Amino acid sequence: MHPLILATSNPNKAREIQSLLPGYFEVITLKEAGIEQEIPEPFFTLEENSRHKAFTIYSLTGKDCFAEDTGLETEVLKGAPGVHSARFAGEPRNDLRNMEKLLNELNGETNRKAQFRTVMTLVLNGETHLFEGICKGQITLSPRGTEGFGYDPVFVPEGSTLTFAEMGLEEKNRFSHRKKALFKMIDYLQKTITP
Ligand code: IMP
Repeated sequence: MHPLILATSNPNKAREIQSLLPGYFEVITLKEAGIEQEIPEPFFTLEENSRHKAFTIYSLTGKDCFAEDTGLETEVLKGAPGVHSARFAGEPRNDLRNMEKLLNELNGETNRKAQFRTVMTLVLNGETHLFEGICKGQITLSPRGTEGFGYDPVFVPEGSTLTFAEMGLEEKNRFSHRKKALFKMIDYLQKTITP
């Protein structure tokens, strides 16, 4: 077994990723690794935040680990909300207020192009590797659907007419930015580490 610490305290995220990794990798959450502190995301790019989170875990444990940061980037708002997606409408983070703010800022705009972008950082034997996953799509005029989280009700991925919130998880995962980044990382891990 090759343990990999994932910079999340969310056991669902860890389970989902574990189910996709080859069996000889064991995903360990921060809690399981004995790390109680919240890892800050102080930077202005997804790359820096993702790298910072992974490196913080590495410096605390000295073990192989990975972290991710995701944002929703719109063309007309020059990449916003981007790295600020979780707190676009301020503190405390609130998905409904974030969506409302986004729809207000896009009010009257015909260019609704947007993309979710995930940057995953793997620290393996002390070396850093970045993997990116992008899902392109459009922002709707109003929220639709009740599944998922975050901006799911206002995002329609290319190749569908449904918002992420109108899809089941399996359908969403056909398009998912996070999964694309994860599969790139898995591909690298499989080539680099054998059972
Ligand atoms: P995180 O880096 O995964 O915490 O994502 C940051 C923010 O981006 C979240 O709080 C959500 O608002 C948004 N976000 C990330 N991934 C998704 C997604 O798959 N659907 C909808 N919103 C997302």
